[in-house]
Amino acid sequence: MAIMKKGNLICTKCKRTFPIERIYPRCDICNEPLEVEKAVRGKIHEGNVLNQTILERYADFFPFTRIDKAISLREGFTSLVGSLKLASELGVENILFKNEGQNPTWSFKDRGTVTGMQHAISLRYKKIGTVSTGNMAASVAAYGAKAGCETFILVSASLPVGKFNPIAIYEPTLIKVDGDYSKLYFESLEVGRQNGIYFINSDVPFRIEGSKTIAFEICEQMHFEVPDYVVVPTSAGGNIRGILKGFEEFRLCGLIDKVPKMICAEASGCSPIYDAYISNAEVVSRVENPHTIAHAIENPYPPSGNEVLRRIRENGGTIVTVTDEEIIQAQKQLAQVGIFGQPASAVPLAAVKKLGEKAFFGENDTVVCIVSGGGLKDTAVFKKHELKILNCSLENLNELIGSGL
Ligand SMILES: [Zn+2]
Repeated sequence: MAIMKKGNLICTKCKRTFPIERIYPRCDICNEPLEVEKAVRGKIHEGNVLNQTILERYADFFPFTRIDKAISLREGFTSLVGSLKLASELGVENILFKNEGQNPTWSFKDRGTVTGMQHAISLRYKKIGTVSTGNMAASVAAYGAKAGCETFILVSASLPVGKFNPIAIYEPTLIKVDGDYSKLYFESLEVGRQNGIYFINSDVPFRIEGSKTIAFEICEQMHFEVPDYVVVPTSAGGNIRGILKGFEEFRLCGLIDKVPKMICAEASGCSPIYDAYISNAEVVSRVENPHTIAHAIENPYPPSGNEVLRRIRENGGTIVTVTDEEIIQAQKQLAQVGIFGQPASAVPLAAVKKLGEKAFFGENDTVVCIVSGGGLKDTAVFKKHELKILNCSLENLNELIGSGL
């Protein structure tokens, strides 16, 4: 049984505090997201990562005094892979890819699901749920199945069958909801309150806690030499907030001496945070008729959008958008260095290329791109690529290969 440490949730805007046992993730006054107080003391519990969970290794940085290990599907500890070839093409010292497709349900969401589940179970919830277009739905369904919870997954009515089945296989209560998808997030919180369901949605405080581990692992993998930039494909805004919080906590605890600049990367077909950023607005506005090939980041009204704006402005990073064409091109380029990510995962590389063309980076810069989910998550995208295959009879095989093609 996971038990909570003492501590508070803090409103990201007005800084009002709330009890950590609370599950409603937003401030009563400003309706902005809450977050767990930052850890200011802590060390890494070194050990054999083959036997350790992220919750154990980074236990000091989570508000749990005890962990229920049985919930874990061995999430995290994903690889960080560099490409000197791409770095030289892009004119930076190094570019590295944090391959979150290696998680149990093939996306970064598993990190936040395991921390959200710990919170839900510590509060004795037996029912959990989420609102998602794909990655988070599969993740919560899988962890719900592992923990034996009754699991409610709310998806948009327009979700294609190809995305429906990889969620349904875990046998949650899967409901296609007809209506405005961006309103479903807020509606689910109310449904959860009335029905005793803990909705582990995109930017709830305990999901942010899970995303911190991406930053922790990057620090360890780079021997505590912090990258200059971290580029994050951004939808609801929870993951980029979590990664930044992770770096900040390591700095507060004296494990690193600086925090990287964060680059929030959106698709130009759905870029509410970017739109607010370039017009110097303080709040994001809903995007009408969003459309991008990177479905995983197609959120027209991101619940953490305002907070991402505030944090990027403080942090000194930037916000950038890329077109579907640039995303497809980057997906191919990423595959050519051996990493196949879903379209949203190619958004950071596309963003780096775009910023590179404007001489944004220095030649000594190190850039980390977050590859948020595995390429097989979206096989429909294959038709956007010109993929070659040769045909040959068994008799002619040697001749064909010997011909130099
Ligand atoms: Zn507030």
